[in-house]
Amino acid sequence: MNTTTKCQAWVAKAAKRPMALETVDLGPLGAEDVEVVVEYCGLCHSDISVLHNDWGISQFPAILGHEVVGRITGLGSNAKGLKVGQRVGIGWNSGSCMHCHQCMSGDHHLCPQVQPTIVGHRGGFATHIRSHWAFAVPLTEKLNFAEAGPLLCGGVTVFAPLVMYVKPTSRVGILGIGGLGHMAVKFAAAYGCDVTAFTSSEKKFDEAKGFGANHVVSSKDSEAIKKLTGSFDLLISTVNVPLDWDAMINSLAPKGRLHVVGAVLEPIPVAAFSLIMGQRSVSGSPTASPATIEMMLDFASRHNIAPQTEHFPMSQINEAFARLESGKARYRIVLDADF
Ligand SMILES: [Zn+2]
Ligand SMILES: [Zn+2]
Repeated sequence: MNTTTKCQAWVAKAAKRPMALETVDLGPLGAEDVEVVVEYCGLCHSDISVLHNDWGISQFPAILGHEVVGRITGLGSNAKGLKVGQRVGIGWNSGSCMHCHQCMSGDHHLCPQVQPTIVGHRGGFATHIRSHWAFAVPLTEKLNFAEAGPLLCGGVTVFAPLVMYVKPTSRVGILGIGGLGHMAVKFAAAYGCDVTAFTSSEKKFDEAKGFGANHVVSSKDSEAIKKLTGSFDLLISTVNVPLDWDAMINSLAPKGRLHVVGAVLEPIPVAAFSLIMGQRSVSGSPTASPATIEMMLDFASRHNIAPQTEHFPMSQINEAFARLESGKARYRIVLDADF
């Protein structure tokens, strides 16, 4: 099958420019690809980073949007396991080589040729999006589709370290209660962990408890953090601003780990002794594989975990970006397709 779809898309012509609605010819559908009509697409901080070319990897013109929920409208001749009409989600990645060691080990997100959805590929702020079939993850009917978008990038980004590093008996700290952090608190609480939320905003203390945090600490209060020395099995950092890293690392228990998923651009200083003596680690990870996304969606639907969102019609995409950049969004933004 080879479908050609002219889609309507919100296109950024250059870095830091507002997006404008354009007609885009998607060309023939690749044999391994699926085509999806977009119903909802979350707005993630990475969309802003790519729009501003903060990481120096952006390609323009760009169609952003990588937290897509929609229905399959076309299947390439080699697409497997999916049906036309089926509801799927597409996250940060849209394809990988499918033959390297990482792909064959199930770590598609670590493939050297992994294809980000919004860099050199057309994203989800459009009527239609395409991806490799393996990266269109089926959504169970139990999920709240209107709220599921942010799970596909932000959600799995904070879920993956829990899968890798914690047990229900672990003490977990979440640094930063924003788009990523509030989902991290919900996931860690549902896992059964003892959860401490760190936030610089006292206004968020009560909300963090509402998300399931057992304790809330001000991330600006170095004295309070020092009192937690030796406490945490895992700290997940979702912030993109420098913290008192020394105090944070010292709050790790022996064998504890500081795991970074927030793209803080300043280097994190680490004293060798604070790692050596407690046998501690510092690590990071980027989203996760399609299989982990599927597992996360199953866990989220079983535990009724959904992000707290604000919805905008997609036609107000530039206003939605401004809202997210202002730091006032609580806590994720979802754009509803209204073409
Ligand atoms: Zn994202
Ligand atoms: Zn590969």
